[in-house]
Amino acid sequence: MKDTVLDYAAIERELRVFEAEERQKLGLADAEPAHWRDPNPQVFTRAERATTTILLGGLTLAHDRLLTGALAGLGYKLQALDCPDVEALRFGKEFGNRGQCNPTYFTVGNLIKTLTHLRDVEHMPVPEIIRSHVFLTAGACGPCRFGTYVTEYRKALADSGFEGFRVLLFQQQGGLKQATGDASGLEINARFFRAAVRATMAGDCLNLAGYRIRPYEVTPGDTDAALEDCKTDLCDTMKRRGSVLAALRRCRRRLDQVAVDRLRPKPKVSIIGEFWAMTTEGDGNHRLQRFLEAEGAEVDIQPVVTWILYNIWEHQHDTRRRFLLRGEDAGTAGLQGKDGRTKLALLWAAEKAVRATFGLFTRTIGLEDYHLPDMDEVATISHQYYDNHLRGGEGHMEVGKLIQSVERRKAHMVISVKPFGCMPSSGVSDGVQSLITARYPEAIFTAIETTGDGEVNVQSRIQMDLFKARKRADEEFRAAVAKTGLDVSTLAARMGARRRALHYPQHVVAGTAANQVLEIAGG
Ligand code: SF4
Repeated sequence: MKDTVLDYAAIERELRVFEAEERQKLGLADAEPAHWRDPNPQVFTRAERATTTILLGGLTLAHDRLLTGALAGLGYKLQALDCPDVEALRFGKEFGNRGQCNPTYFTVGNLIKTLTHLRDVEHMPVPEIIRSHVFLTAGACGPCRFGTYVTEYRKALADSGFEGFRVLLFQQQGGLKQATGDASGLEINARFFRAAVRATMAGDCLNLAGYRIRPYEVTPGDTDAALEDCKTDLCDTMKRRGSVLAALRRCRRRLDQVAVDRLRPKPKVSIIGEFWAMTTEGDGNHRLQRFLEAEGAEVDIQPVVTWILYNIWEHQHDTRRRFLLRGEDAGTAGLQGKDGRTKLALLWAAEKAVRATFGLFTRTIGLEDYHLPDMDEVATISHQYYDNHLRGGEGHMEVGKLIQSVERRKAHMVISVKPFGCMPSSGVSDGVQSLITARYPEAIFTAIETTGDGEVNVQSRIQMDLFKARKRADEEFRAAVAKTGLDVSTLAARMGARRRALHYPQHVVAGTAANQVLEIAGG
């Protein structure tokens, strides 16, 4: 057969002619491409504060609600966005740039969905929407797309008809020295930080309590009703700047009213993965937490405070490394001519303050046997598999969490949630975690990818592994009961004060029911 020799230059010429003809036909021959420039509108003055609604969202429902209460207590007018759903994703896909990660589409789309509702359903004129609303969001610098979110917001806002809408950025690693346009409108100072951190921690406490109690509630819906009362109480307390500790004590009493039966063995499933995807409670992860509970599992969630500790750890680690370059590192964070020990001392104090405050909150609300991770230990055990210098997403944390979960029997099963299009999470959950599961073959590990569609596929994969986890939880429970030499009804009769909803048996094995049995038998 005769070889065909392609004349690439001729093909290129032909394509250029074709393009020129098509441009001519479409009237684009002389059109200059209109590049979009981000005007970055941010002016928000103190005089506008009383008449401007700050929209916020992006964490769990409890966090978003408590944050609105806490910041309202500082004199701001706030509105939490709804939990992002498929409709938000649709807006995000319509107006967002191509090739973004899934959380970007959901969060960008959720804002546009809200503004579109104001315009099309409440018939608020667009100039009025722009005048009377701003959006407050977290940002970060780093290798993942989180750093570009804010520009994506503004581009999508312009394309959806809200050009000029103000997006205020709160840098999660920026500390107190933050630029938010005209700083007198939104003052990110010590009061702001304190209020935001306390609301975040209180939200964590409510979520942790809820996920511990709900799987064992005797009457379906009791836990959610109690949580709703607690959210209202905490939110009102923060609005009037009352005592959060007193409100947490009231929450404790309210939550303890829920009747529970903790002698029902359930597989404990730890959810780890990309921060937003594992935290959201809506379509962004196919309502994973509620799905698992409906399938009979107890869900082990990651509190947001862990993320704060990871951010502190990053600064500590980087500062220690920069000591080695003190003679030459003149960069912004460099230590040339500076005393890095002061920075390390401040970070040490910040970590201690976060741990102490969270400990106080968890004790006050009655969360028993809850421990925050040692971030140095997490870094050490994961470093050989995923270098501590690799950042973006959860960094090495996801790897360390899986190892600890298996080695310490913290859960029967671990699900890693990876959003479609996430660069850092793809490398970890598809790549590195395969090595971890090869080293720990006893691990039941399921990596799922969330795209906004394909819910049935995700759920069916989880169900397959959940079957194994359920079996493991049952065996563990039977072994614990056999060890006591008693039957379940005798053990139930000996529950005593452990019957309280917020009581949590001391951790020995993964399953709560098995731990409860071992605790009763231990006296
Ligand atoms: S970690 Fe992944 S999903 Fe999250 S913002 Fe970065 S790239 Fe997107």
